[in-house]
Amino acid sequence: MPLYFYRPAKTPCRLCGQGFERWEKAGDPRLTECEKCGQAVSAQLPVSVHTPKQTRKPSVSEAKNAGFTVLKRISSGEYEKQ
Ligand SMILES: [Zn+2]
Repeated sequence: MPLYFYRPAKTPCRLCGQGFERWEKAGDPRLTECEKCGQAVSAQLPVSVHTPKQTRKPSVSEAKNAGFTVLKRISSGEYEKQ
């Protein structure tokens, strides 16, 4: 579930300050008004808190360190632990 950050049209808002964060399902409609003050808000891009963006494939040792079992493909349909 992505964390959305909402920024009110005028900051700082008396009630929500620089904005507020809200967990939302990907399919949920975005808020258009602040739930506290009714001011128009704009949603910022979702912020991943727990899963940093991976721009590259993790190496085998990194995957192992992260607790994954790394399987090496030895022939079609067969895998062995590395
Ligand atoms: Zn507000």
